[in-house]
Amino acid sequence: MTSRPVSSHISRRRFVGGVIVGSGLLFFPRFSRAVDSLAPSRKLGVALVGLGGYSTNQLGPALRQTQHCRLTGVVTGDLAKGKKWAHDYRFSEKNIFGYETIEQIAGNPDIDVIYIVTPNSLHAGHCIAAARAGKHVICEKPMALSVAECDAMIAACKAAGVRLMIGYRLHYEPHHIELARLAHDKVFGAFMRMDGANGFLMRGTSADTGNWRANKKLAGGGPLMDMGVYVIQAACMAKVEAAPTAVTAHFGPVTRPELFSEVEESVRWEMEFSDGAKATCLATYAENLSRFRADAEGGWARLEQPAFYYDEPKLTTSKGAVHLPKVNHQAAQLDGMALELMTGQPSRAPGEMGRRDVAIIEAIYAAAKSGQRSTVQG
Ligand code: NAD
Repeated sequence: MTSRPVSSHISRRRFVGGVIVGSGLLFFPRFSRAVDSLAPSRKLGVALVGLGGYSTNQLGPALRQTQHCRLTGVVTGDLAKGKKWAHDYRFSEKNIFGYETIEQIAGNPDIDVIYIVTPNSLHAGHCIAAARAGKHVICEKPMALSVAECDAMIAACKAAGVRLMIGYRLHYEPHHIELARLAHDKVFGAFMRMDGANGFLMRGTSADTGNWRANKKLAGGGPLMDMGVYVIQAACMAKVEAAPTAVTAHFGPVTRPELFSEVEESVRWEMEFSDGAKATCLATYAENLSRFRADAEGGWARLEQPAFYYDEPKLTTSKGAVHLPKVNHQAAQLDGMALELMTGQPSRAPGEMGRRDVAIIEAIYAAAKSGQRSTVQG
C-alpha cells in the first residue's frame, strides 16, 4: 500500500448542499462492492464508537445538520448513556452496542458506517472489529499508534470490502481546500517554506486514564499525535500531498513534570521534502497556538490563528484576504464522506493518508529521541 499521491487532480470543484466535493482526490483506494450498493437517495446511517467529548459536543450535533447521513447507533461502555443517546437522536435501542460487541453490528440494516472516536490506542482494534462487521469505517486521528497497526487496519478493511477513512475534517473545509488548490495550481509557484504550530494549554495534574491524552498507553504519544498531525496535514497539503523524505526534531522543556511524566509536553520538528522544501513545525500542550504559513517565490498563503480549531479559519494570501463559505467542519466532513461513499468517488482522506501521517510521526519521534536526522519510511 503506497503512501504517495497517485494523482494530482484537484482543479474540479463543485458545491453540493454547501459541501465542496470532487476535488483533492489525491489518493485512490480500491472501490468495494459495499460502496457500489449504497443507494444515493437515502441518508447513510452512522454509529459513533465512544461517546466522549468529540462525539457529544461536535459529531453528534453535526449529525443533526447533515443532509446525507444521520446518527443511527452508538457503541458505548455505558448502557444508560446509550439509551439517552437513542432517545435524544431518535434511533432504536437495539442499535446500542458495547465495545466487545462491535462485530454484532454485522447485518444491522440501519448502520452503514462505524465512526471510531475512542482514545488513540483503541483505534486499531475498534476499526478491525468494525471492518469485520462489514461496515465502512471512519477513524479519528491519529489513525493508530504505529504504521504496523495502520497496515492491519487497511488490510482488515480491504479484506471486508469496506472503506477506511480518517476523520480529517479540514480536507472538507473550504479555506483548507483553497490552500490545497493554491498549492496544486502553483498560483504562487511551489511552496518551499512552511511554518506551522498547533496546540492547547492542557489542564490536569496527572497522566491517569481520565486524562488519557497524557497517558502513554492510551494516547501513544503527546501533542505530536494529537495536535501535530494537523501541522503535518497542512504541510503535506501545501506540497500537493507529497510526504516528507526526512525529519529532524527535538522535545521541548518539561515545565509540568507531574502531568508530562509519560508523553512530551511539546516537540519541534523540521520536515524536508524531495524538492528541497522545508516545514518548521511545533506541537504543544503548553499554550494555545494554531497557525500555518506557506511561502513560494511568487507569494504566500497564511491560515491565521486559529488555523486548525473548529472556528472558521481565515485565509490570507499575498494577494489579500480570501472569502469563502463558513461551514460546520464536522457536518461538512460527514456529508462529504457520505457523498463519496454513495457516489463511489475516492475519499479525500483515506486510510492510506492516515498511514502516511503515522509514518511521519514515527520518524519525528525517532529523530527527537536519537537527536539524529530520521528518514520517513514510505
Ligand atoms: P474523550 O476522552 O472525551 O472521549 C473518549 C471516549 O472513549 C469516552 O466516551 C470514553 O468513555 C471512551 N473510552 C472507551 N474505552 C476507553 C478507555 N479504555 N479509556 C478511556 N476512554 C475510553 O476523548 P475525545 O476528545 O472525544 O477524543 C476521542 C478521539 O477523537 C481521539 O482519537 C481524538 O484524537 C479524536 N478527536 C478528534 C478531533 C478532531 O477535530 N478531528 C477532536 C477531538 C478529538
